[in-house]
Amino acid sequence: MQGLVTKSTGSWYQVRTPGGERYDCRIKGKFRIKDIVTTNPIAVGDVVDFELEPEQQTGVITNLHQRKNYIIRKSINLSKQGQIIAANLDQALLVVTLASPRTSLGFIDRFLVTAEAYDVPAKLVFNKLDLFSDEGLDILAEYTTMYENIGYPCYEVSALAGTNIEQVQALLKDKITLISGHSGVGKSSMINALLPDLTLRTSEVSEWSDKGTHTTTFAEMFEIPQGGFLIDTPGIRELGIIDIEKEELGHFFPEMRERMHNCKFNNCQHINEPGCAVLAALERGEIEISRYDSYLSIYNGNDTRA
Ligand code: GDP
Ligand code: ZN
Repeated sequence: MQGLVTKSTGSWYQVRTPGGERYDCRIKGKFRIKDIVTTNPIAVGDVVDFELEPEQQTGVITNLHQRKNYIIRKSINLSKQGQIIAANLDQALLVVTLASPRTSLGFIDRFLVTAEAYDVPAKLVFNKLDLFSDEGLDILAEYTTMYENIGYPCYEVSALAGTNIEQVQALLKDKITLISGHSGVGKSSMINALLPDLTLRTSEVSEWSDKGTHTTTFAEMFEIPQGGFLIDTPGIRELGIIDIEKEELGHFFPEMRERMHNCKFNNCQHINEPGCAVLAALERGEIEISRYDSYLSIYNGNDTRA
């Protein structure tokens, strides 16, 4: 039988069949994943084959289908070791706000770079619309235009007032969606507004301990009544932007990616090289300064999360 992994607890995996039945399954044998050592070879979002154990309601996972993408939480002090948080994501929504606690553009850009690196389409949800004055709304419009111009759809909502929530609701239908946002932006309020029938239980992926050993994975995705699944993650801090090679960083900025083939040197880092097409576009105002600043900041290893 084939099914979708909707919950993992380290040793047991809940697998949902296309018909909606759920089975608790174990893994037998080894599942190898290229290049990384994981403490959990199978994660929520995975499509697997499984066999029911004789005379029991439990199953054994026998095969893992190829993933279109996956996100991993890296061990802080052991590179190449990590924990897969989820696989086969259709999209990643980042909930942000320009009201308090204001999300910095650096944080947003870092998230977008991470999503690009994981090959997950990212979308931005600007929350707390009800708190904006006219001036605030102008700034918001500036930001949404900036991000939409480089291919990231933006939504302006108020989780509290229910404004435009239906737009986000429509986005989720029949998709596997990762939802993130730093504390205080209204992510929980948003989930409650989106899915009033759903009582979100503890879904946080457990933390890595400092010793580099792992603790049990508790990841779960929640079934949306209208179809689709939602995965709630506490943040993206730990996701592996650290592993992006400096030389490749420009590839994860779409507006740089589309121009860099015109740079004079094919190893151009877009810092101060002559004939750089990215710097020329920046000069002409075609690339936003804040985006380029984020590039430099990540390039130089500065923390842009604040
Ligand atoms: P989380 O930490 O991202 O899950 O944020 P919460 O959902 O707990 O919300 C943090 C605070 O922001 C709470 O006091 C919410 O009532 C408030 N909040 C959430 N959404 C909105 C909104 O759209 N407008 C306003 N004014 N406040 C909001
Ligand atoms: Zn260049």
